[in-house]
Amino acid sequence: MEIKNPSFISNRARALNPSLTLEISAKAKELKKAGKNICNLSAGEPDFDTPEFIIEATLQALKNGLTRYGPAAGDPELIEAIASKQNKINNVATKPENVVVTNGGKQAIYNLFQVTLNPNDEVLIPAPYWLSYPEMALLAGAKPIIIKSSPSNGFKIKIEDLEASVTQRTKLLILNSPNNPTGQVLAKSEMENIAEFLRRNPNILLMSDEIYEFLIDENQVHHSFAAIAPDLQDRIFTVNGFAKGWAMTGWRIGYLVGPEEIIRKATALQSQSTSNVCSFAQRGALAALQGSRDSIDKMVKSYNYRRELLIKGLNEIEGIKLTPPKGAFYAFPQISIQKMNSIDFCKLALNEVGLSMIPGIAFGEDSCVRISCAVSNQTIIDGLNRLKVLMAKM
Ligand code: PLP
Repeated sequence: MEIKNPSFISNRARALNPSLTLEISAKAKELKKAGKNICNLSAGEPDFDTPEFIIEATLQALKNGLTRYGPAAGDPELIEAIASKQNKINNVATKPENVVVTNGGKQAIYNLFQVTLNPNDEVLIPAPYWLSYPEMALLAGAKPIIIKSSPSNGFKIKIEDLEASVTQRTKLLILNSPNNPTGQVLAKSEMENIAEFLRRNPNILLMSDEIYEFLIDENQVHHSFAAIAPDLQDRIFTVNGFAKGWAMTGWRIGYLVGPEEIIRKATALQSQSTSNVCSFAQRGALAALQGSRDSIDKMVKSYNYRRELLIKGLNEIEGIKLTPPKGAFYAFPQISIQKMNSIDFCKLALNEVGLSMIPGIAFGEDSCVRISCAVSNQTIIDGLNRLKVLMAKM
């Protein structure tokens, strides 16, 4: 039923863009249902099941009656375990008061934006970016300022571009390494340069989204930004979660780490909006942190193999230029086709060869497409063959 008065919808909601990712995957599903042979390389989540010991711990928590409200900031034992992980694995001095458990990394970002951004504040977002950052900044009344990077330059963030974008209103800078969609991993020296930029700009906060921290090539090292610049800890926020590393996307457990005073505000916001994250699911997350790393290592090995398979295959296709990904489970190649934008190219790929990919425009770079390798080796090979056929026709 159509609404009669458009003002029934708030200005805030009207400004919100529907997710392009969802639109494309809905179209792929529709074609599949209609009997078309579709190869789906648009996935944004692990294809593995959550490790059994995590499920067991959660079932046990349910049987033990952990079915009631809990503290808004999260299960104290889980908070303790996250703080301990931050100290030991990420090398970031963290107390339980610095942590709030959220409904996925997504809510950690949403909460942070809501409690730090005022209307018209500016948020520096290096492109390519995860597509929810600009939308969430807008929801907080702030203005996303997109900092372009060049595919031919390996998507490097240039400090001079950051400097040139700073105004009186600049409030927050977003980093995401390993990156969705490019798979690039920031080197320590690059982070140090960004830390210097922050020292020159004392009123700018930084959010480091480290949700893919474990999913990196063997020869790469993940650095937590807060570990690189301990002197800036009063304005650095770390976003992380269990979705990607432990294959727990549907569990909706993430966390935000930062200065105590702002974490208290994020917790207050949560207490007035969603309350605690599902009590027994948090016990699964606790088991994940306390358990063996074997299941992560196994999945990482698999992603590393698949990433290489994808890189090798893409490099062999004429008309495609790739900055090889070093982490996460995506490749973000540039498609050198004149006069065709990424949406049209992805639509063509779906209709002509039944290949589903995400248009780069969704991540702020219209010359590229995002291809996932969170699928079987066979599916990757199938997708590469279809892409080759399509490119040969262009
Ligand atoms: N940050 C990035 C870069 C992501 O790709 C995602 C999910 O795709 C998230 C955050 C949110 O993850 P979660 O499922 O924990 O909300």
